[in-house]
Amino acid sequence: MSFTLVIHGGAGNITPAIMNEELEKEYSAALKGALDSGHEVLSKGGAAMDAVVAAIVSMENCPLFNAGRGSVFTKKGLNEMDAALMNGSNLMAGSIAGVRNIRNPIVLAREVMIHSGHVFLAGEGAAEFALSHGIEMVPDEYFFNQDRYDQWLEIRHTNFTQLDHKGDNLKSHLPDTGDYKFGTVGAAACDVQGNIAAGTSTGGMTNKRFGRIGDSPVIGAGTYANNATCAISCTGHGEPFLRACVAHDVSCLMEYKGLSLKAACDTVIKDKLIKIGGEGGLIAVDAKGNYEFCFNSNGMYRGMKNSEGKEVVAYYGE
Ligand code: ASP
Repeated sequence: MSFTLVIHGGAGNITPAIMNEELEKEYSAALKGALDSGHEVLSKGGAAMDAVVAAIVSMENCPLFNAGRGSVFTKKGLNEMDAALMNGSNLMAGSIAGVRNIRNPIVLAREVMIHSGHVFLAGEGAAEFALSHGIEMVPDEYFFNQDRYDQWLEIRHTNFTQLDHKGDNLKSHLPDTGDYKFGTVGAAACDVQGNIAAGTSTGGMTNKRFGRIGDSPVIGAGTYANNATCAISCTGHGEPFLRACVAHDVSCLMEYKGLSLKAACDTVIKDKLIKIGGEGGLIAVDAKGNYEFCFNSNGMYRGMKNSEGKEVVAYYGE
């Protein structure tokens, strides 16, 4: 039986002009590391959901991405993270929002799914649940990152929020640091049983207001999985993704209108989302192992690895 894993590390103004050889190497190594982590689970006959968690944990632990360790700073100068996980075989889901000091938010989302009796926990309640379930906590310093901090310093006195992968912002940092970091992360997988799952993890947007929650942890907006249709993880400016219920809309187009995975993704990302000013993209798989990368931005960090040993890592548009 075959299996497929797809991942993303954020979408935005990612072009050759804002990258360099060194950065490409770093992102390539990080994306391949995440693909390997998920692939190992799937190749041993493991569940799609576990492969998704393994791939996302790998990216959360890597400061290159805006998730877990590399999370951006809020208006108050803190790191508040959101994450979600959904299992397409039984439609179980777990989400957390506005959590701090959690090493791996996707692990907490899985714990919420399996052991809380709820779907969505936020803020202090999520923290209390994490503590009582032995979820690993880390001090504020774990999340400190000079580039992200400087990025926040530039706009903290304004009311602007900022996708961490806006090209202008990237450019202004690249010459100084050479290792500018960005990218919400996500994964979707189809396992050898034909079950699918999806997960997303993010630090959100730089300078976001205290308590702001994006699309990533909202089931049906940034994350969704259903064996009957597809498993989806989104990335981009969260507010339009929330308003367009992007992930569930793709699933509905397949379920109710019989669209193919590709046609459904294209309709939502390249038409409906653009009409309401939404920029970003998604990764998707279906229960036959078909996969899609779809984005309306200049680029999206992305990768795929399957049972045939095929591996793809890419950044830019076609
Ligand atoms: N969608 C995320 C949010 O709005 C950000 C991103 O994908 O980069 O929180």
